[in-house]
Amino acid sequence: MVVKLHDLYFKPFVNANELDGVVQRMVNEIAADIGDEIPVFVGIMNGSFMFVSDFVKKYPNPCEVTFIKLASYEGVKSTEDIQRLIGLTQDLTGRTVVILEDIIDSGNTLEEVHRIFKNENVKQLLIATLFYKPEAYNKDFKLHYIGKEIPNKFIVGYGLDYDGLGRDLPDVYQLKTTQHMTNIVLFGPPGAGKGTQANFLKEKYDLVHISTGDVFRYNIKNETALGMLAKSYMDKGELVPDQVTIDMLNKEVEKNADANGFIFDGFPRTNAQAKALDELMDSKDSQINAMVALEVDDEVLVERLLKRGETSGRADDADESIIRNRIKEYYDKTAILKDYYSAQDKYYGVDGVGSIEDITERLSAVIDKL
Ligand code: AMP
Repeated sequence: MVVKLHDLYFKPFVNANELDGVVQRMVNEIAADIGDEIPVFVGIMNGSFMFVSDFVKKYPNPCEVTFIKLASYEGVKSTEDIQRLIGLTQDLTGRTVVILEDIIDSGNTLEEVHRIFKNENVKQLLIATLFYKPEAYNKDFKLHYIGKEIPNKFIVGYGLDYDGLGRDLPDVYQLKTTQHMTNIVLFGPPGAGKGTQANFLKEKYDLVHISTGDVFRYNIKNETALGMLAKSYMDKGELVPDQVTIDMLNKEVEKNADANGFIFDGFPRTNAQAKALDELMDSKDSQINAMVALEVDDEVLVERLLKRGETSGRADDADESIIRNRIKEYYDKTAILKDYYSAQDKYYGVDGVGSIEDITERLSAVIDKL
């Protein structure tokens, strides 16, 4: 699940279960190195509070825990300017001190920590950090224990915040880098009016319309290799094989990398295609927001398609038995996708019988609520 904090969207990154394993491994390493000595664990407030809490609960031997409070983040950018809000309040002469940091990125906070401990005469100062961003780190201080190296992207949760929000989340989330897209699967049997409606909706919501049927027909017209391959299936009203269709769709999406979102028309038509689409959206830090389905009776469909065939020039609209085969393909292979999207609470059925304007209204009502 994507979470919204203030104006930004964050996607799941490291779940609580994985965090638990990472913390346990750090505990094991540190306990093995320190042995019987009683260490002082120093958490860096605020971000480390959950990490420190889980860490010391798992620590197998006696230990002391204290905190210093530093502030370094403003918004999502690391600032040079570290404020020391609460410093050390006890004498640590001769002690083994382990700093517990939630995250080390630029190393500015760590530099301040070293400044704080310079004259404390501790026996040793060890640095342990749950997260580490190697690409952002620009200091030379040794990091003795690292929980998990992560890319240089802003994260929240498990103590880490974005402008005050997100510290309470048990999982860690990563900032989504692309802007928020609206992606809609326009669904329904052949002849339901998907293409007609998509033309209105793409204007209204400034979305890119991708019709896999149109792309195939374009390729057939231009006699490309893809077109030749697709034609043999399309002429019979059968589905083109998944991998061919998925590869083609990926290319169409890539061509519109900076779109506000997409209307997918005629795709996905199988479970494999739906999964591929989810993966593609995920790779773009995005998701399918809704499947909006036009519901129309079979006999109305056949009638509409035969009528369209009089002018469309589409071979698969001209013959009633091919039309019926396309509708059968829809029920045999495609209709199951209603379950796929229903399971994610993303299915919206819309009555597809009526005037074009009325149906556009009904679809818009759904999209406006997303
Ligand atoms: P359409 O224009 O959506 O009615 O599609 C016309 C024909 O193109 C279909 O009957 C299929 O042969 C082929 N086609 C379009 N989209 C897909 C898809 N997602 N998967 C497989 N075949 C497709």
